[in-house]
Order: sequence, then C-alpha cells, then structure tokens
Amino acid sequence: MNSKSEHIHPVFDQLLTREDKEKLLKQKAKVLWFTGLSGSGKSTIAKGLEKTLHEKGFLVMVLDGDNVRAGINNNLGFSDEDRKENIRRIAEVSKLFLQCGVVTICSFVSPTAEIRKMAGEIIGKEDFVEIYVNASLEECEKRDVKGLYAKARKGEIKDFTGISAPFEAPINPDLEIVTEKKTVEESVNEVVNFVLPKIKF
Ligand code: ADP
Repeated sequence: MNSKSEHIHPVFDQLLTREDKEKLLKQKAKVLWFTGLSGSGKSTIAKGLEKTLHEKGFLVMVLDGDNVRAGINNNLGFSDEDRKENIRRIAEVSKLFLQCGVVTICSFVSPTAEIRKMAGEIIGKEDFVEIYVNASLEECEKRDVKGLYAKARKGEIKDFTGISAPFEAPINPDLEIVTEKKTVEESVNEVVNFVLPKIKF
C-alpha cells in the first residue's frame, strides 16, 4: 500500500464478487493479451474474435490503441517510460473488466518481455493469456497497413518497433499464430478454438 492508497476506504468486501458477475453472464473472464509487431494482425484477429464470441453469447471488450491512446492514455508518448505507463494502465483497466466478468482482449504491440511480465503480474498469472501474433518484419513491412513502416524507414517516426526499437518475441506464449501462413479466417478460428474452453462457464 502506498501513501496515497492508505487513506482509501476499501469497499471491495461489500461489493458483489467477480464470481457473481460471471454467474450472471454465464462465462469465465480472462484477459487475452495479443502481442506482436505493428501489422502482424492483432487488430484484425481481435475484431474477428470479438464478433465470433459475441455471436456465441459472450460479453467481450476490446482494448486497443485507438480507444486507449485517444482517451485514458492521451498524455503518453512512446518513450520507454511512457510505453511502460501505457501498458501499466491498460493492465489495470483490464483487471477492472476482469473483475466485472468480461472477456477482455488487449491488442497492443507490447514489445518487451519486461512490460508483458508487468501486465501479467498486475492481471494475475492465471487470468493472463498471452497470444503471440507472429508475422515477420518483412511481411509486416510489405503489408504496411497504416504506412507507418515507410515513415519509420524515412526517419519520420522515431523508436518504431521492429525498425528503430526492439521487439522481443515471447519465449513461451500460451498461443502463437503465424499469420503470414494463414488466412484471417483461419487465424480467428484458431484463437476461438483455443479460447472457448477457457471462458466457458
Ligand atoms: P496490427 O493490429 O497487429 O497492427 P492489423 O490487424 O492492423 O495489424 O493488420 C494486419 C493486416 O494483415 C491486415 O491488413 C490483415 O488483413 C492482414 N492479414 C493477412 N493475413 C492475416 C492473418 N492470417 N491474420 C491476421 N491478419 C492478416
């Protein structure tokens, strides 16, 4: 407990539990943490996964750069310190969704083992499912979905993961999807099949 939190009066023991929420929703909550290079397929798979799970009756929330960096983290940049703070807040927000029984998909590059470890520790090992969305740098650069690699090569974006900042591939992810050898549908189906037994009530 830090000096700021010691004066907060805890109400958690008076509130309904995560189990109460999971019972209501008839699902088990997990945080599905996608990591991978920009353009590897995280958002594409997250979108397909959300839709499929929703159709099957699951309540799902996707956190990604668009809804997080535009809002709660709009004061953060891409320095080491800010990247770490970005992930810390995302992990804390995910934990709140988890406590509400929601299947939460996080779609962020999250490039280093250190920041993924931090996210896992905040969320809790048993609820943190690490999914490595793997495509080679060459393939991601060829796709260049947002035109960011071209800009990074020209030096217009500094500290760009894969070009001028490191990406450390996860050593022992719970699931790895090699997207350059699959269709989007195949990738989504693979993740759906892997995730379903973990979130079924
Ligand atoms: P990220 O969110 O990781 O930055 P995106 O999902 O925005 O990446 O972009 C990935 C691109 O790769 C999309 O244009 C998508 O259609 C394409 N793609 C090709 N094959 C696959 C696959 N098997 N899985 C996911 N995306 C794929």
